[in-house]
Amino acid sequence: MTRIQRLAPRLANQIAAGEVVERPASVIKEALENSIDAGATRVEIDVDAGGVRLIRLRDNGAGISKDDMTLALDRHATSKIGSIDDLEAVATLGFRGEALASIASVSRLTLTSNATDESSRGVLARAEGRDMAVTLGPAPHPRGCTLEVRDLFYNTPARRKFLRTEKTEFGHIDEVVKRQALVQPEVAFVLRHNGKVVRNLPSADGAEGLRRRIAAICGDAFWQEAVPLSREAGSLRLQGWVGRPTFSRSQPDLQYFFVNGRVIRDKLVTYAVKQAYRDVLFHGRHPAFVLFLQLDPAGVDVNVHPTKHEVRFRESRAVHSFIFSTLHRELADLRPGDNLTQGVAALRTENLNAGPGTPVTQAPIPLGNPHPGFLEAGESEAQLTTLRRLYQTPSRGSPGDSSRPLTGYDVAERDLGDTGGEVPPLGFAVAQIHGVYILAENAVGMVVVDMHAAHERITYERLKRMRDDAGIKTQPLLVPLTLSVSAREVEVATQMVETLAGLGLVLNPAGEEQLVVREVPIVLMGGEVEALIRDVLEDMLTYGSTDRIRAHEDDILATMACHGAVRANRRLTVPEMNALLRDMEQTERADQCNHGRPTWVQMGMGDLDKLFLRGR
Ligand code: ADP
Ligand code: MG
Repeated sequence: MTRIQRLAPRLANQIAAGEVVERPASVIKEALENSIDAGATRVEIDVDAGGVRLIRLRDNGAGISKDDMTLALDRHATSKIGSIDDLEAVATLGFRGEALASIASVSRLTLTSNATDESSRGVLARAEGRDMAVTLGPAPHPRGCTLEVRDLFYNTPARRKFLRTEKTEFGHIDEVVKRQALVQPEVAFVLRHNGKVVRNLPSADGAEGLRRRIAAICGDAFWQEAVPLSREAGSLRLQGWVGRPTFSRSQPDLQYFFVNGRVIRDKLVTYAVKQAYRDVLFHGRHPAFVLFLQLDPAGVDVNVHPTKHEVRFRESRAVHSFIFSTLHRELADLRPGDNLTQGVAALRTENLNAGPGTPVTQAPIPLGNPHPGFLEAGESEAQLTTLRRLYQTPSRGSPGDSSRPLTGYDVAERDLGDTGGEVPPLGFAVAQIHGVYILAENAVGMVVVDMHAAHERITYERLKRMRDDAGIKTQPLLVPLTLSVSAREVEVATQMVETLAGLGLVLNPAGEEQLVVREVPIVLMGGEVEALIRDVLEDMLTYGSTDRIRAHEDDILATMACHGAVRANRRLTVPEMNALLRDMEQTERADQCNHGRPTWVQMGMGDLDKLFLRGR
């Protein structure tokens, strides 16, 4: 064994750099945080060759006084905290005092700064040799700071090997800038790569500025599909935007979460959000969101990770449930029609069947045959009926339950132009198309509803509500249904007989391979009971254990709802269709079916005009 010796400053810093400086983007992150902490309102970043050759970041913040320049490059030197109490309520992004020293130890770094308004009084500093002795020299510079980092990892080849292509590294840099720009809308950012401007984000003033900033970073499509939210409870405050479930992503690449202005990746938070979307998102899809959580700095420990990407919440349970309940409520409150002004927004959803990594594409508005199938030789009875309905006066109908005779609304005499406010959001049904879609007219234009998907969602929400309230109302079958099933199915049904009864399915075994179904939920009467029971049993076998079956109750209800929902090709009367539209307006999460697919789309008059190239 060699003797114990004190590490040279450079080596000690290089070891620290191992944690803090992973890649060029880490340098940008630390430098941006310093600029923000210094109160800069404008930050310009130049990057060459993915940041490996050069990173230059210039800000107009407070600058560093000449006397402090040496300390700025020193390890364990910071202007941001002075005591352990400060650490417990830290309000700046930086506080560890090691970023500049670490970066300087693995690159050729110069720091130029001026804390006065006389640009001739600027000072340039660099740290050299194994002791990282700082040399100072005059250098004209306006108030603010310029950090220049060349040849990153030139002296740590192991690190250099881990760097990816220029494009990938720049992608990471861009992501860092995007995150900071989202949380600092009042700061202007410019990002150039190899001399070309990649981002130019003017300082965002007011609501319009903020809108532009978010759209510039998350895309217009996100902004159009985003729902604002804001909620406060005790010392917790959550604000931001969540994407409608129909605007889901194939990757979790549009998820921004900030805690007290700090960019955070946190399992707890991710989990809370995921849970909130669970019911409304197509399997395997990822939600999009920009969320800002504000809480008492004493309630969160930011000193758990060198890069401060992770935090620890003092009351993690409370934080989790606050985030979950806020999002859950917000998503449940979405109603068809909330985003009517957005025209074909719903058409902009990504292809839901696309595999991972598929870029977001705008679904083309079908432009083929403008009236497919209509009025052609051999047209079916169904199509004729549809056509007839298109031209007939809609019957009088009123919102409510489809089995009641409908009175009240005089649909025929409505004037959409003048009484736009009184037309319900989804409007009035005018026709059913091929037994699958409902065509309706509302104040904005035309609405197309996927009848089965919509009804399935309504039934599912109804079942859940009934289960949570007074229990699911059942109705005995006139003739009990005897089913031949497997022995395993009899076994699981016997085991779970009470759980099943709680879900409105009353049945009992009638032999080793037979079940008798006696009662089913009233809302599912008229559905195909046999297929329903078979699917539920199959679900239960898939979940396996009793606990897992209980945990998946909602999924079982979703399976049941699917069977209770109107099937394609079932002819609906206009009042029935209107009743469905009214139900959709009342139902939580009605914008998506249980699998996250949209249940309806809106095409405004403007969108229709565009289809026909008709100027207005
Ligand atoms: P920390 O940010 O944790 O304090 P750093 O190593 O990042 O540590 O920076 C050291 C010090 O240098 C900071 O505390 C700050 O006083 C000063 N500093 C760094 N960058 C800037 C900047 N862009 N503008 C003004 N001061 C800066
Ligand atoms: Mg710092």
